[in-house]
Amino acid sequence: MKNTTKAIHTPYQRRDAYDALQMPVYHTLAYEFDNADVMADAFCGRTDAPDYSRVLNPTVTHFEQRIAHLSGAKEVSAFSSGMAAISAMLMSAASAGKNIISSTHLFGNTYLLLTKTMARYGVEARLTDLTDPAAVEALVDENTCCIFLESVTNPQTEVADVKALAAIAHKHGFPLIADTTMIPFTQFDGKALGLDFQVVSTTKYISGGATSLGGVIIDYGNFPEISLFIKKDCVFNFGGYMTPHAAYMQTLGLETMQVRYERQADSALKLAKMLSQTPGVMAVGYPGLESHPQHKLFTEQYGDRAGAMLTFDLESEAACKRFINGLKLIHRATNLFDNRTLAIHPASTIFGPLTQAQRDAMDVKDTTIRLSVGLEDPEDLYADIKQALE
Ligand code: PLP
Repeated sequence: MKNTTKAIHTPYQRRDAYDALQMPVYHTLAYEFDNADVMADAFCGRTDAPDYSRVLNPTVTHFEQRIAHLSGAKEVSAFSSGMAAISAMLMSAASAGKNIISSTHLFGNTYLLLTKTMARYGVEARLTDLTDPAAVEALVDENTCCIFLESVTNPQTEVADVKALAAIAHKHGFPLIADTTMIPFTQFDGKALGLDFQVVSTTKYISGGATSLGGVIIDYGNFPEISLFIKKDCVFNFGGYMTPHAAYMQTLGLETMQVRYERQADSALKLAKMLSQTPGVMAVGYPGLESHPQHKLFTEQYGDRAGAMLTFDLESEAACKRFINGLKLIHRATNLFDNRTLAIHPASTIFGPLTQAQRDAMDVKDTTIRLSVGLEDPEDLYADIKQALE
């Protein structure tokens, strides 16, 4: 089956009592058992029967199984947000005294998780240029526990060589982990690229309508100790499991993700090309443009469509703010891959709480606008961009 079919046709783990065609929302915390032995088996994990909805819920399980079916994962774990999935992932890979190799170009909260939150628990972040495998290898020592990358960095749109990083990680016996929120896992074969785990903010492409927060860990099963820690320690002891209502909304979103992605990515490419020819636009960041420094690498790794996020630079911060204020159709809002198009000035908003020195180190420029392209007609979007620029 192809992905558009698989996204809709994933069998339920058990036949529904009413043969509901859509997976019902099991808004329950507790479950009843026939007898004490069946109950003990469920609580000790000897059966897959749910016992308590902080750790297992049929609506969430079905969402996880659809993602496993689509991604080829051995296990999928769903969390209440992308950050909950990322923190569970990194807490599972690391322990006190270990170090994580990653990039200076990271989503803002992931950057703070690595450099501030996890530092408090004795985990060191070694941030470098992940597009330079030699620089990465130079940082590896006996305490390195993983390499963590983002498929396309936000807002720099940088793309690292995943196979080269996988070779380093596997030579030294630790996992390669990627946040692949920017390109849906249906677009590429994460396992063949050498990824051991993907983390995804399902708030974005999967939700689509920006209806609910969520995150998943896609686990190919290469590091069983880490898998066990995710499913047991993280889900049981940290909490943060996805709610059944969010799983329901996100399962609906998943059914249409592929068609939305194709439409949004095609519109993003059209807009990136038009913006490249627009007076007043100094530069456009989009891996689908042949002029992008990692265009070829992007296409080899992630396929023909380069996602629905693009950036462009104007002459000054003041010009960016005038542009944002002048928009009439495009929304002034954060989030990515909503059905509607959204514009934001990352330096003063998402990265606003950081210092200028931190923004400089992360290459977050005062002159950059980020656009998340939605499902509207690209001609209408370009007309709004033109009038706001003028
Ligand atoms: N990873 C990336 C690349 C993101 O862009 C975001 C949010 O914008 C996240 C993770 C965090 O996801 P969430 O907001 O679902 O916690």
